[in-house]
Amino acid sequence: MIPIFDGHNDALTRPDYTGFVSGRPGGDLDLPRMESGGLRGAIFAIFSPSPDERMEPLPRDDEVIEFEYAESVAQPEAAGYATAAAGRLAALASSGHLRLVENVAQLDECAVSGPPAAILHLEGAEAIDTELEALDLWYAAGLRSLGPVWSRANAFAHGVPFISPSSPDTGPGLTAAGTRLVRRCAELGILVDVSHLNEAGFWDLARLESGPIVASHSAAHALCPTSRNLTDAQLDEIARTGGLVGIVFACPFLRADFAEDRDTPIELIAEHARYVADRIGTEHVALGSDFDGALIPAALGGAAGLPRLLDALREAGFSEDQLRDVAWGNWRRVLDAWWH
Ligand code: ZN
Repeated sequence: MIPIFDGHNDALTRPDYTGFVSGRPGGDLDLPRMESGGLRGAIFAIFSPSPDERMEPLPRDDEVIEFEYAESVAQPEAAGYATAAAGRLAALASSGHLRLVENVAQLDECAVSGPPAAILHLEGAEAIDTELEALDLWYAAGLRSLGPVWSRANAFAHGVPFISPSSPDTGPGLTAAGTRLVRRCAELGILVDVSHLNEAGFWDLARLESGPIVASHSAAHALCPTSRNLTDAQLDEIARTGGLVGIVFACPFLRADFAEDRDTPIELIAEHARYVADRIGTEHVALGSDFDGALIPAALGGAAGLPRLLDALREAGFSEDQLRDVAWGNWRRVLDAWWH
């Protein structure tokens, strides 16, 4: 079985996360399903909710679907929430259910045996103060990946609102603190993730030349022109830096009609992978499910269905060698580059 690495899940912040070890009826990802799907490594995101979590669709008189821009969350609230969620992952690691991976030697071991690799990721850097003092503590606690923003504004950058169809060019770029954050992440060895960053922020980050540009859970704007997806120009820039796109499995970011429809075929994930591979090369394609954070095709059925996705990728023309890279090797390469 080909070992699989997945670039984004929200399993730690689901209300029923306590069922992660034994398995749980709902959701997409837990330990038994990781095992049966061949998922040997994953990036576990910590997302701190906005004060008001409801994001209502805005009334519009055209065919555009737009949701309210999420409220910003203050640093003390985010820090409290995020440290507790990180503690959940630390507990799963100390009990031997997952291995908290901080370097590629550990990651390589996880591809073969032992508990699956878990990489600690902050989805939105609200838990970090603008002096970046907390960043060193998070690094010491195992943080190895960070997205400056979720789809809202914070002290570092501006996330894309959810608008479909829309360009990702929705607002201002990185703040001065955001630039400092990216530079410091590069110094420490923390991967910086551009999923949820708007286009101005993307190009600001690209100009810093900090490392390969990674979009952990996004898809191709050419096939599904939502604000959350990557334009061809962004894909080209990702390739130039040696980065990757973790193809997201979220139905509304895959479908040309943006529908929240579970009856979305797995083949559509493979179509996005094929598109990105044809444009910029297979070495820039990887997986970034958004398990437990989005509506995933029912035919996949969560992490246990990953072998079916590999079959769809084979059908889409990926060779066995290419599949090994898409499923594992490309993530390994970019993590190694950022972790130095
Ligand atoms: Zn996300």
